[in-house]
Order: sequence, then structure tokens, then C-alpha cells
Amino acid sequence: EKKELEQYIGKPTVTKDGASIELVANIGKPEDVEKVLHYDGEGIGLFRTEFLFMDRTSMPTEDEQFEAYQKVAVAMNGKPVIIRTLDIGGDKEIPYMGLKKDENPFLGYRAIRFCLDRKEDVYKPQLRALLRASAFGNIRIMVPMVTCLEEYREAKALVEALKKELDEKGLAYNKDIQVGIMVETAAASLMADVFAKEVDFFSIGTNDLTQYTMSVDRGNDKVSYLYSPLNPAVLRSIRHVIECGRREGIMVGMCGEAASDPLLIPLLLAFGLNEFSMSASAILNARKLITGYSIKELQAVAEKAMSFSTVKEVEDYMKEFISRI
Ligand code: PEP
Ligand code: MG
Repeated sequence: EKKELEQYIGKPTVTKDGASIELVANIGKPEDVEKVLHYDGEGIGLFRTEFLFMDRTSMPTEDEQFEAYQKVAVAMNGKPVIIRTLDIGGDKEIPYMGLKKDENPFLGYRAIRFCLDRKEDVYKPQLRALLRASAFGNIRIMVPMVTCLEEYREAKALVEALKKELDEKGLAYNKDIQVGIMVETAAASLMADVFAKEVDFFSIGTNDLTQYTMSVDRGNDKVSYLYSPLNPAVLRSIRHVIECGRREGIMVGMCGEAASDPLLIPLLLAFGLNEFSMSASAILNARKLITGYSIKELQAVAEKAMSFSTVKEVEDYMKEFISRI
């Protein structure tokens, strides 16, 4: 099996009917890049920077962050590197940040909400480090857990202000750096047509989008039976986001677990997803699956799958489809 997959190393990720798909990886630390290169990832679709902040007793400095981001950008040698700004709160705690325990952590003081409240000591140093590192490769900035346009605008304005600061100091950075958002809340999905006119790219975070669409804590076993990206509600949300992004001509990726799910890949291709981001070890199998499909032929499959009313029907249908090929 391993040998069979190895033949996909170095092959382009192109569907049978000629659509080029970006097959990229999720990482948590600069060291993870080694595995990405080993499995022939075409870039980084999600660098979860919170791991740089965890397992230590104080915040990483701007310079420490710069080094980490630069290392990844250089190692990826011009390939896209999407770096997500700090996503703490929710289930991720960082003791030295002085956060009180939220009653409902996933609905509380998390990610961009926290960062915009802590501009001086947290967000600006991170964004400055990202901008400085952007001189060394193809870095893109991604804002997590966005629910409304104002959050994106505020983050984007900070980036612009920091660019001016770097200009004044004569420090190098990529003036055209892209700033995109994770689409992982119900609000962002419903407003995707509006966001698509302003942001540089979307990456759908199905781990949270499923949680926030189904109102089910992603870590709670008692209600995990409700947690499925194949639920028709979640599928409609995903399809809508992809359509809105495509209409405005921006890249639409996915960096949640669903991106590597063999039952979902045919549907995501049919919806028009441009980029699939997953753990490095899943890349070659995904390339095998994607290169075996023709997007045109998948349209009817997607249409049928979207006609069902329950997750069970969708799942049974997709399992049956997979077993036929
Ligand atoms: C997601 O929510 O799908 C995602 C990729 O981010 P995380 O799992 O880090 O919340
Ligand atoms: Mg998320």
C-alpha cells in the first residue's frame, strides 16, 4: 500500500478532466515541514501558530516568531505558506496569557476576538513577525474564527498600519501579502458573498464549521453522533462558501479534517474547491483519489448527494459511490 502511494510523489494533482488542485499540508511547528516535503505537499494550507505559544511559560517574542515563520517560508521555497494568526481560547489554554475560564469557551473569548483585544502585546508582534518573514517566501496571513466583517477589517487595517511602520524603518516585506479568513462560523458562511468581495482567500475550517453549525461541542462524546461534515446542513454551508468564493474569483481552500475524507473529496471537487489542506501523511492518498476523478462526472454525484435530507442517506450514498469505483 505504501509503495503504491509512493508512485504519487512528484506527480501533479490534476483531475482527469484537467483541473489543477492545490494539495497542501497542515502543520503546528516549523519541524513539521520535513514531513510535508517527504510526502510532497505543494505548500502549507494551515500553520497553527498557537503551538509556538504552548508548552512554555511566556510568550514567544516577535523575533522568535519571525524565525519560526521565516524557517517555514524558506523551507517551502516559494510555495504558498498560509499562516494562521493565534487561535487560543476554545479548548486551547495558554496559562501565561491570564485568561479567565469561560463559561462556554467555544462561544467566548477566542482567536480573533482575543487578538483584537490584545493588539499591543499579542497581535501586533505576531503580525509584524509575519510581515518581516514574508520577505523570505510566499507567506499568506489567515485570520481565524471570524464572524463579522468588522473583525476582518480591523485585522487588515492593523496589517496596513504595520506595513507603513516597516516602510519607515526600511525593513523588507511582501507588499502584496494576501490576507484571508477561515470560514468556520455559521455567520461567516452565511455572509460569504460579502466576505468574498473583501478578503484575498477563504479556507473552510470544517472542524469548527461543523461544531458551530450543528451546535455540538467538537470534543463532547455524548453528542458526537451529531457531529458530521456530511450532515446536509454542513454540506449546504460548504457548497455555499465555495460558490461565493468562486464567484468573486478568490481561492477557496479547506483545512479541516473533512478535506482528506474520501467520502467528501468527490463532493468538494464537484463544488469547486481549489485547495485541500491536511496532515502530511494523508497527502498521497488524497492525490491518488483526486487524480482519479473527473469533476464533470462528479456533478451528478454531488447533485444526488445534496438531494438527501439526512446524514445517513448522504453517507450511505457516498459509501456506495466509493465502493463502485
Ligand atoms: C477547523 O476548525 O476546521 C480548523 C482547521 O481549525 P482548528 O481545528 O485548529 O480549530
Ligand atoms: Mg478552527
